[in-house]
Amino acid sequence: MKRILSLTFVVFTFYLSGCMESKKATSSAISFADNIVVAHRGAWKKNHLPENSIASLREAVRIGCSGTEFDVHLTADDTLIVNHNRDYAGLMIEKSTYAQLAATKLSNGETIPTVYEYLTEGIKQKTTMLVLELKPSIIGKERGRQLAEKVIAQVRQLKADRWMMYISFDLDILKRILELEPNAKVAYLNGELSPAQLAPDKIWGIDYHYNVFRKNTGWIAEAKKLGINLNVWTVNDAADMQWFIDQKFDYVTTDEPELLFELIDKKGK
Ligand code: MG
Repeated sequence: MKRILSLTFVVFTFYLSGCMESKKATSSAISFADNIVVAHRGAWKKNHLPENSIASLREAVRIGCSGTEFDVHLTADDTLIVNHNRDYAGLMIEKSTYAQLAATKLSNGETIPTVYEYLTEGIKQKTTMLVLELKPSIIGKERGRQLAEKVIAQVRQLKADRWMMYISFDLDILKRILELEPNAKVAYLNGELSPAQLAPDKIWGIDYHYNVFRKNTGWIAEAKKLGINLNVWTVNDAADMQWFIDQKFDYVTTDEPELLFELIDKKGK
């Protein structure tokens, strides 16, 4: 009898801790800011911060962007790092080691961020989505797939999946992401495919240069009809921003997030 009682107690305690866990999960729910503003390479321009720095990530969060974009490459020794260009400090990133690249600081004194460092900072907040651009590999398609695999492994290790959107000019990289994470938000950047052409690949969104949408205005309605999200880059001019606001885009990616906030505030959103 005593044994049954103690077993009941153990089961009940286990049940209670389960309830507490799920309550904790609910209270830590992420709620991204309700606006269309995605800071391109972080919010760097106004305050002269380096693009793709941790400081620019923090500033995008501070000013309330719903998303902040950053660019990712894989070094020769398999470190994921955040930088726009294929080269950094005169070195080709994919042909260099992390130690070689880290020897040169960013202009604000930061070391070139690893994706581990960037995501670790990014998941300290719950209002700004982390828009990770996987850069096509100059080495080849296989290295591009490895980049996708290492990004997903890093996101899983940090339990950062709920913050992530993935974008790339390389459709095969996005397809690899979807093989590993079928529910991932992935958006294609290159601009040559219509929403209908991308729909079979279960692409979450299209994120095209603004001239692509200007030339193919029909794609906007087509994407909406297919349930494909709409993002556009890189819109820095107020009149252009207004056009995409009027077209009811889901996101607008910009180097001037402060200007875009002024426009949407005027409209009362
Ligand atoms: Mg980018």
